[in-house]
Amino acid sequence: MVVLLLILAWPARGELRAGVGQRVITPDLVLHKPVYLAGFGQNRQASGVHDDLYARCLALQAGTKPLVLCAVDSIGLFWDDVVKIRRKVSADVVVSASHDHQAPDTMGLWGPAQGQSGIHETYNQLVVDRTAEAANEALAKLEPARLRLASAKAPELDTFIDDDRPPLVHDAELIAFMAENKSGKPIAVLVNWANHPETLGSKNTRITADYVGFLRARLEKLAGGVAVFFNGAVGGMQSPLGTKLIHADTGARLEDGTFEKAEYIGQRVAGLAAAAIRGGRKVKVNSIVYREKLISIPVQNPGFQKASDAGLFKGRKQPGADGSGSSPVGLARLSHKGRPVLEIAMIPGEMYPELSLGGILRDPGADFPDAPFEPPIKGMMKAPYKMLFGLANDEIGYIIPKVEWDEKPPYLKGAQKRWYGEVNSVGPEAAGRIAAAFAELVK
Ligand SMILES: [Zn+2]
Repeated sequence: MVVLLLILAWPARGELRAGVGQRVITPDLVLHKPVYLAGFGQNRQASGVHDDLYARCLALQAGTKPLVLCAVDSIGLFWDDVVKIRRKVSADVVVSASHDHQAPDTMGLWGPAQGQSGIHETYNQLVVDRTAEAANEALAKLEPARLRLASAKAPELDTFIDDDRPPLVHDAELIAFMAENKSGKPIAVLVNWANHPETLGSKNTRITADYVGFLRARLEKLAGGVAVFFNGAVGGMQSPLGTKLIHADTGARLEDGTFEKAEYIGQRVAGLAAAAIRGGRKVKVNSIVYREKLISIPVQNPGFQKASDAGLFKGRKQPGADGSGSSPVGLARLSHKGRPVLEIAMIPGEMYPELSLGGILRDPGADFPDAPFEPPIKGMMKAPYKMLFGLANDEIGYIIPKVEWDEKPPYLKGAQKRWYGEVNSVGPEAAGRIAAAFAELVK
C-alpha cells in the first residue's frame, strides 16, 4: 500500500508529444438564423461572413494524461458548455474563448431585445461538438515534439491597447511557443496576448474573428504550423477601440470599426510573435500537470440576477442555494526534472491586468478603500514563462480588485461619473476568491 501511494504521488513523466486539431465554427446564416452578434448592443444580426471562426486545440503530453488547450472564436462559453465538451474528450481539457465581439451570442445577453436571449441552442451545440472534435483530432495526432518558448515586450504592443479606466496597467507582454516535431517541422504555434477582439466595433454585421484571425493567418505564413491564440487579462478594459494607429508602411490613419485596423493589429502582433519565436529558447519538458479548483463566487450584480431569472442563459449558470455561481480556476505546469518551465493560469473571466501583474490602485473614491490587495496571479507563478488564459472554462465577466470597486460616489480619481466596469462584473468578491484558489494551486 505504501508503495502504491508513492507511485500515485509522483507526477507522470515522459517524453513530450504534441498534436493540433481544428474545426470551423462559423454559424450557418440560414440554419442558425437569426444570428445575434455578441458584445455590444441588442439585436445586431449577422448579415454575412468576412472570415471563418475556429475552434483550435493543441494537445500536449508528457507522461500519462494529456492536456488539451482549446481556443474558441467566441464571446465566451459558460462552464455548462465547457463541461459538455469535456464529456466528449478523454484528457484534461481547457477551453478558452477569444472574446470575439463579432461572433454569435453564446451567452444569451445580446438577443433581439432586453430580456430576450440571443442563444441559438443548435449553434451552441455545434460549438460544443466541433470543439470536442478538434480536441480529439489533436489527441489523435500526438507525436514526439520539442518546444521553443519566447516572449516579446515591444513597446508597440502597448500602442494597440487603450485602457479606459485607472490604473493604466496593460498585461501586454506576448508569450508564445512553437511546438515542432523531431525533424523540425512546425506542428503548432501558440500565442498568449491580451486585448479585446472588438476592432470592428458595434456597427459591423459581418462575422469575423477580428484581429485574432489576421494574427493567426500571418503567423502561420511566417512561422508555419497551426496558429492557436489565447487571450489574456482583457478587463478594465483593454481594447483596440480608441487607439490612435498610423500604418507603418502607408502612413494612413487606421480607423476604429474597419477591417484595415483589425488586419494591421493582427499582422503586426504576428510579426512580433514570429520574430520572438525565431530567437526563442529550446526547452525540455518531461512533466505536465494540470490542477483545477471549482470555487463558488457570490453573484451580487442585480443585472446578472435579472438575466438569469429572465432565462437569458437558457438553463446555464444555475445559482447554488446561496445564490453563488461555480467557476473553475486552473493551473497548467510544464516542467523539466522538477523545474517549472512554463505555467499557465486559467482564469474564468476578464481579469483586470493589475490583478495579473500588480499595480492595483488604492483611492479614497472607491467603495472599499481599505480592502487588501489581491496577490497578482503572475507574481505567484514560479516558471520563467508565465501565461494567463482569460475566459478559460467560463466567462463570469470583469474581475475587479475589491479596493477598486466603485459603484457609489465619490468616484476613483475624483471622476464626475461612474467608471465603466462593475455593471459587467459578478461582484467585488470574485477577485479575492480567484486569487486565493490560484494561490493554493500554485503551491
Ligand atoms: Zn469584455
